Amino acid sequence: MADRFDVVVIGSGPAGYVAAIRAAQLGLSTACVEKWVDGDGKVTLGGTCLNVGCIPSKALLDSSYKYAEALGHLDVHGISTEGVKIDVPAMLARKEKIVSQLTGGIAGLFKHNGVTTITGRGKVLAGAKVEVTDHEGKVVQVLEAGNIIIAAGSVPVNIPPAPIDNKHIIDSTGALELTEVPGRLGVIGAGVIGLELGSVWGRLGSEVVILEALDDFLPMMDVQIAKEAAKIFKKQGLDIRLGTRVTKATVKKGKVEVAYSTTEGEQVESFDKLIVAVGRKPRSEELFASDSGLTLDERGYIFVNDFCETEAPHVYAVGDVVRGPMLAHKGSEEGIMVAERIAGKKAQMNYDCIPSVVYTHPEIAAVGRTEQELKADGVPYKAGVFPFAASGRALASNDSDGMVKMLAHADTDRILGCHVVGPSAADLVQQVVIAMEFGSSAEDLALTVFGHPTLSEAVHEAALAVNGHAIHIANRKKR
Ligand code: FAD
Ligand code: AMP
Repeated sequence: MADRFDVVVIGSGPAGYVAAIRAAQLGLSTACVEKWVDGDGKVTLGGTCLNVGCIPSKALLDSSYKYAEALGHLDVHGISTEGVKIDVPAMLARKEKIVSQLTGGIAGLFKHNGVTTITGRGKVLAGAKVEVTDHEGKVVQVLEAGNIIIAAGSVPVNIPPAPIDNKHIIDSTGALELTEVPGRLGVIGAGVIGLELGSVWGRLGSEVVILEALDDFLPMMDVQIAKEAAKIFKKQGLDIRLGTRVTKATVKKGKVEVAYSTTEGEQVESFDKLIVAVGRKPRSEELFASDSGLTLDERGYIFVNDFCETEAPHVYAVGDVVRGPMLAHKGSEEGIMVAERIAGKKAQMNYDCIPSVVYTHPEIAAVGRTEQELKADGVPYKAGVFPFAASGRALASNDSDGMVKMLAHADTDRILGCHVVGPSAADLVQQVVIAMEFGSSAEDLALTVFGHPTLSEAVHEAALAVNGHAIHIANRKKR
C-alpha cells in the first residue's frame, strides 16, 4: 500500500468521510484512517453518526413513533387498533440493517472515488506524518501526508456520580441497544440526546423521568420556543424535572437507586435503567505527538481558526473534535471547506447559518439568533409568530401543537433567526436556512408563494407577521 498521500484523513465520521470524498473528487490522492472495527475485525466506517448516533437514534424514534400512534393516537381519525404489540428485537434489527446499509454505502463511495481506507489508529507526528497502529498498539505504517485532516469526533461525557456499567447505567450507545422496554427509566440530562432517547423508550411504554441540573429547559434555544416545547411535553406526560442534580447512582438488587438534590433537599428514586446523557467531549487524547505543533484549547478541543487550520502547517481539524456545535452537518461542511482549500479554492463556512434540531415529537428546530441573544446584544429586531393551531394542514393531520417564530432586523428587515417547535420543524427551518444564506429579508419570504395546504405556510405567515401582515391570525400591531 502507498505510504504517501496528498491528504490523509483521520476518522471516517460525517466530518472525515465527507472531507475524504471531496478531496478525492478534487483529484487529490486521499487515504482515510479509521480505527473502528466490528466483531470480525472488519473496519466500520461512518463514525458516531452512522453507527451509534444520528441514524440509529432516528430509526428508533421513527419506529417508536409509529408504535405510539398505532397504540393511542389513531382513534381521532376514526381508526381503531387492537392487539398492537412491539417486538423490540425486530425494531433493533431494522435499525441495524439501516446502519449497515449506510456504512456499507460509505465503503462503496470510497471505492468509487478512489479513497484508500486504512484500518488502525492514526496519530499525527511532526512534519505532517501519520503513524498508524493496530488494535494491539503495534505501529503498522507511517504515512507521509501532503495535508492531514483530523476528524476524530467525540465521546460521551461520564460523570463520577453515575459510572457506566453497560448493564443498568448506560450511555447513549447502550440506550440504542436495550432489548427490552424498561419499566422505569431515568435519564440524566434534558439535552438533545436525553430528550430523544427518553422519547424512544417513553413511547414504547417506559415510565420516563428526565433529571436536569439546570433550572432552564433547553437554554440554548429561543426562550419562547423552549417554554412552548416544555408545555407540550408536559401535556404529553413527559416527566422533566429541572433544577435536579444527580449526586449518586447505585445499583442495588437489579435496580438503580438515584440520589439527587433539588431546592427541596436530597431525594432518591429507583429505576430499572439509567441513561447518562450529560453531553459529549472531543476525542482529542493520544491523537498527536507533543512535537507535532498541535495545541488544544481550554476545553480540550483541537485549536483551529475559522478555516479549521490548526497551529501546525498543513494540518486541519474538523467536526466534533473542534469548537462549534457538535452536529454531523457542521462537521461535513467543515470537511468540504478544508478539502477545497487544500485544493486551492477559496471556500469558507457560514457559522451563522447552522440549523439545529431536537427530534422529539413535535420537533424543535432553530437557525440563527435567539430573541434573548438579540436583546442581550442590543440588536433592534422585530418578531413574527405563527401558531400551528391556525395552520389548515397541521389541523388536518391532527398535529397542531407549536409555532414558528421569525426574527428580523428592525431596520433592514434581514432575517436573523427562525425557531420552530411543531410538526416537521427541521424541514421548515431548513427553508429559512436557505433564505438566510441568500441574505433574505422577512419581506422576501412574505412575497414568496407557498403551496397550500402545506406546513410551510406557517413559515410564510411568520414572515408576514414580522411586519404585522399575517393573514390567518390577528396581528399584534397593524402597519
Ligand atoms: P464522529 O462521528 O465521532 O467520527 C469520528 C471517527 O473517528 C470515529 O469513527 C472514530 O472511530 C474515528 N477515530 C477517532 N480517533 C481516531 C484515530 N486516532 N485514528 C483513527 N480513527 C479515529 N448530530 C446531528 O447533526 N443530528 C442528529 O440527529 C444527531 N443525533 C445524535 C444522536 C446521538 C445518540 C449521538 C451520540 C450523536 C448525535 N449527533 C447528531 C451528533 C453527531 O453524531 C456528531 O456531531 C457527528 O458524528 C460528528 O462527526 P465527526 O465526524 O466529527 O465525528
Ligand atoms: P447536552 O450537553 O445538550 O447533551 O445536555 C446535557 C445536560 O446534562 C446539560 O443540560 C447538563 O446541565 C445536564 N447535567 C450534567 N450533569 C448533570 C447531573 N449530575 N444531574 C443532572 N443533570 C446534569
